[in-house]
Amino acid sequence: MRDCVIIGGGPAGLTAAIYLARFHLNITVIDAGQSRALWIPTTHNHAGFPNGISGEDLLERMRAQAIKYGTKIVQGRVGSISNNDVGFALEYGHGAVEAATVILATGVVNRRPAISEELHAQALVEGKIRYCPVCDGYEVTDKNVAITVRNDLAAKRPILR
Ligand SMILES: Cc1cc2nc3c(=O)[nH]c(=O)nc-3n(C[C@H](O)[C@H](O)[C@H](O)COP(=O)(O)OP(=O)(O)OC[C@H]3O[C@@H](n4cnc5c(N)ncnc54)[C@H](O)[C@@H]3O)c2cc1C
Repeated sequence: MRDCVIIGGGPAGLTAAIYLARFHLNITVIDAGQSRALWIPTTHNHAGFPNGISGEDLLERMRAQAIKYGTKIVQGRVGSISNNDVGFALEYGHGAVEAATVILATGVVNRRPAISEELHAQALVEGKIRYCPVCDGYEVTDKNVAITVRNDLAAKRPILR
């Protein structure tokens, strides 16, 4: 029986885990291991890292910090949550756990351009495809960019300089 189960071990879930574990609560993070942060070659907008940090390194540090304060991190995909007498019952992979509270930190899934996995990975590493104008717009300041969208929403608020 846990005080809280956090579904999702990306930056959001791990941040919650660090705060709650340091509040002396029993925390389990269940993570399917597909954080979008794993795709970040180097993030330059994360406070505290003036020279940038890769998403993989950031997650590793956050996991270590959460574990240091007693968080249990479990690999698996939560398939069901139901109410019971004590709070919630969750099932994941081959396991099950009960918790007084549950935090959903499952992130979102990118809508990728229709290119091969290899080309996509290479383009990310080379900074030729970027997903976050707020994070990465600075790096392409004064350069020509192409915007791929499913509708015209993304092009409606251009950043004017
Ligand atoms: C190429 C790229 C570059 C980026 N660059 C930057 C940047 O420079 N700066 C910046 O601030 N942001 C950047 N971002 C955005 C950043 O990665 C996301 O904002 C961040 O990862 C969101 O964190 P999250 O914890 O909400 O979700 P995620 O990191 O997506 O984590 C969600 C986790 O929940 C897990 N999950 C989902 N469903 C279940 C389930 N049923 N059971 C168990 N686990 C589950 C997933 O597997 C995943 O591990 C970038 C994103 C991409 C793709």
